[in-house]
Amino acid sequence: MPDRDLFSLVGRRALVTGSSQGIGLTLARGLASYGAEIVLNGRNEERLRAVCAELTDAGFTASVEAFDVTDQEAVIAGVERIEERDGPIDILISNAGIQRRAPLEQFARADWDDLISTNLNSVFFVGQAVAQHMIPRNRGKIVNICSVQSELARPGIAPYTATKGAVKNLTKGMATDWAKYGLQINGLAPGYFATEMNSKLVEDEVFTDWLRKRTPAARWGNVEELVGAAVFLSSDASSFVNGHMLTVDGGITVSL
Ligand code: NAP
Repeated sequence: MPDRDLFSLVGRRALVTGSSQGIGLTLARGLASYGAEIVLNGRNEERLRAVCAELTDAGFTASVEAFDVTDQEAVIAGVERIEERDGPIDILISNAGIQRRAPLEQFARADWDDLISTNLNSVFFVGQAVAQHMIPRNRGKIVNICSVQSELARPGIAPYTATKGAVKNLTKGMATDWAKYGLQINGLAPGYFATEMNSKLVEDEVFTDWLRKRTPAARWGNVEELVGAAVFLSSDASSFVNGHMLTVDGGITVSL
């Protein structure tokens, strides 16, 4: 008989950055449905409180810790508050991220800086702050949200591609430094999912038509389809998986 508890998250606490909407919120709900207590994060506390009420009304345990993931001092203070108020963080999903689009020759320096700090610096800041608590406990799970753009470029988003490629390699580096302390650090790479971040692309019929032809599964992903991979990487089922990037993309990165 397979051990069904391998995927249980009962008794585990998960901090999900950028979980007021989109992929982060879906993953927070998904981990909660496997038993995890959730700490929601984003910059807009009011929005997080509303989402937290939805989760608790549904019978899940959730709390809110609003901080800006690009501000290292705020990150350290936020992680300390969670550990003191709620208890140990067992799982970190580093999900907060942004997109900026422009041809590279016109790309504004401010947009480049925003991408680097939100998509890359944050993974280091939050990962390090959480790992400093996980290491003495000799256990912990970190899942860094990567992208198909960790592997492939597309016109107009070269700096985003640079950040997601770096997150993939930072994941390998974290695993290399921290696996010996009982931590598993892996990446989860979504393909194209219909979220707020992609709303312009979803409405663009030419793009959607191209995406259907380009993706072996011939459709946009439904964000719920990321939950299984996130639960796997957050649970005992992945106890010897380290530095891996699990791609959930309908096959787009394995086919031309
Ligand atoms: P989204 O709908 O735009 O949500 C982004 C979340 O991040 C929001 O909760 C936002 O809340 C939070 N956030 C942004 N900047 C933040 C900051 N500085 N500090 C704290 N929280 C911050 O994005 P999404 O589409 O769900 O994407 C989530 C992740 O998946 C990103 O890393 C993205 O690159 C990746 N991804 C998405 C797709 C896709 O198809 N959508 C594909 C591949 C990878 P506040 O604005 O209130 O802070």
